[in-house]
Amino acid sequence: MAWVTGQQLRLYNSLGRRTEDFTPSKDVVGLYSCGPTVYSFPHLGNMRAYVFADTLRRALRWKAVQVRHVTNITDVGHAVADSDTGEDKLEVAAAKERRSVTDIAAFYTETFFEDLAALNVLPADVYPRASEYVEEMIAFAIRLEELGYTYRLATGLYFDTSKSPGYGTLALLDLAGQRETGRVEHVEGRKHNSDFALWRAEEPGVRRLMRWNSPWGWGAPGWHLECSVMSMALLGEHFDLHTGGVDHRELHHVNEIAQSEAFLHDDQPWVRYWLHNEFLLLNNAKIAKSAGPVPRLADLVEAGYHPMAYRLFLLGGHYRSQLDFTTAGVDAAQATLRRLIARVAPLRPLPVAETYESARALVEDTDKAALAYVEAIDAAISNDLATPRLLATLQDALRDPDITTEGLRVVVAAADALLGLRLADLDPAEVDNRRPATDLAPQEVAAIERLVAERTQARKEKNWARADEIRDELDALGVQVTDTATGPTWQLI
Ligand SMILES: [Zn+2]
Repeated sequence: MAWVTGQQLRLYNSLGRRTEDFTPSKDVVGLYSCGPTVYSFPHLGNMRAYVFADTLRRALRWKAVQVRHVTNITDVGHAVADSDTGEDKLEVAAAKERRSVTDIAAFYTETFFEDLAALNVLPADVYPRASEYVEEMIAFAIRLEELGYTYRLATGLYFDTSKSPGYGTLALLDLAGQRETGRVEHVEGRKHNSDFALWRAEEPGVRRLMRWNSPWGWGAPGWHLECSVMSMALLGEHFDLHTGGVDHRELHHVNEIAQSEAFLHDDQPWVRYWLHNEFLLLNNAKIAKSAGPVPRLADLVEAGYHPMAYRLFLLGGHYRSQLDFTTAGVDAAQATLRRLIARVAPLRPLPVAETYESARALVEDTDKAALAYVEAIDAAISNDLATPRLLATLQDALRDPDITTEGLRVVVAAADALLGLRLADLDPAEVDNRRPATDLAPQEVAAIERLVAERTQARKEKNWARADEIRDELDALGVQVTDTATGPTWQLI
């Protein structure tokens, strides 16, 4: 469509596993992001999904595409281990913390919102709660039952995946294989392993904390149902974009598609583009809540990092690449952010350049170099949201002697409209977590100076191996040595 400006926006669609032109189907594009289950603190890995969705959202704004963005809050229905018969995650948390389910949901929803704000994620238009849509979910399941897609068991109402012709396409599932071996949970009477609960009935003698009456008895909805129901209620039956972590591509989104396309019964794909972000790895292990305590954003802040350093760390990798979370990595991001803010602060106030058109208009008659950078920014974001390239382009512009100050202001504003690093307002002091050397005890200073002298001696003797060894020791102490004409100087980083 003509109103997609600059280069054609291309996105990697998990449905078909290829990079495609993005063409909006409506004047206001529907974007649905699978949100958190609010039973514990969101960890750093969880937050990657929302920074990714935010990057997509900013890219659409850059292209002057209007968006309605919905992020759900799962406060009921999500059972432990994503199973059909287990306990509800929120009820388990409530029992463990001796608080009501309502308290648990309210508390962890609030911490989720705090993390979103700290990471400068643009607020979604709506944050629907699953518990507020249970009547609609029941109506949805009744319709599926009428259409013949379901069967009843003592444990609830199940979706029969063998009746869904394209079942598992998103996950590239071999249909027969998935039905036989896909999941290990044993459910008495379930026809295929891939069949999933639309309604989870109460077991006899067990009264759930969160319970609703339904044609299939008292109980609670299955986890997948909420996203189909709430997205259709808020974005219309069909919409353009659905995002989530790559783990959702294998089960949750597969089931969302199956039940939604059965419900709509119109031979159209329910959602046109499915986008998934890769995992954040901690010590080469997937950060999962089941793996025990994992760092939260608050832990990073406590350790002296700015939330924008974490955002920068994430954007330094492409959203479809696994990213190793390491202290060295986040240190480097913090240092890069500090230098960026120091460099950009004298350019303030920055103009508003949130769209390609507006950024271009600000420089096209006056500054050829700046115009080239605006085009390069557009090329990077249009290429499946290539944020590492976008960051490199920004750094190039900041070093370019041929760009005017006015032009540079526009380039920085344009890049940051997409990166969301708060380059326009972040206080340089806020991102400077270097310890002053005056914090050190005299014996620490003496030890550092001894190492620096040893390094100088090793270099004089051309003993490079020893010099490198000492530099590593100094690194470990957080000391950065700079060689100058008058000898080495050092500072804490
Ligand atoms: Zn979902």
